[in-house]
Amino acid sequence: MFVGHYGPAFALKRFVPESSLFALCIGVQLVDIAWGVFVLAGIEHVRIVPGFTECNSLDLHHIPYTHSLIAAVVWSVIGGIAAWLYAGRKSPRIGVAAALAVASHWILDLLMHRPDLPLYGDSKVGLGLWNYRWPALFAELISLGIGLALYATSTRPRDAIGRAGPLVLFVALTGAQLVNLLLDPATTPQATAISGLLSFVSIPLAVAWLDKHRSLSKSLG
Ligand SMILES: [Zn+2]
Repeated sequence: MFVGHYGPAFALKRFVPESSLFALCIGVQLVDIAWGVFVLAGIEHVRIVPGFTECNSLDLHHIPYTHSLIAAVVWSVIGGIAAWLYAGRKSPRIGVAAALAVASHWILDLLMHRPDLPLYGDSKVGLGLWNYRWPALFAELISLGIGLALYATSTRPRDAIGRAGPLVLFVALTGAQLVNLLLDPATTPQATAISGLLSFVSIPLAVAWLDKHRSLSKSLG
């Protein structure tokens, strides 16, 4: 999954508004950020196999340290503690929200991936929605759309940028997803990791900038 991962970040911002939306957006992709770094470092491995699924060419045959169930739990605990410490140990809710953000990644990946997510021993799981191009795109956009709607209805615009922000984000991220889906830009494992890392940093920065142009609704805040 790609842009659909941001749905839970926006949803969590509604329910735990004291959380940083930037931190939540980093959190939902923390596992893939680690994956990009580990691929570049030669710790995890991916093969580029054109047509491997209908959505991408990624044969993710060795991803135990980022995408196993145990790893997902460990990354979630690390993310939760880091967010709690960074927020000055004020609010355990911030830590819980961050941990849930990180954990949401594995659950959504479980829906999309072929059986390449390590469970225990040699067993791997994945429901394989990536084998169905348009249902997979639908799942991405539904997750993103629900999250953005929850966020947009619990905040209000400060200015014109804030007013346009949620819709512009939805259109821009849909565009990014379509480029990913239709052009399948993966050429080498390293290029895939680098382009992933660039988007996992630039998207949260753009979201945080737009979030500055919105404020919490009084009724919900
Ligand atoms: Zn992932």
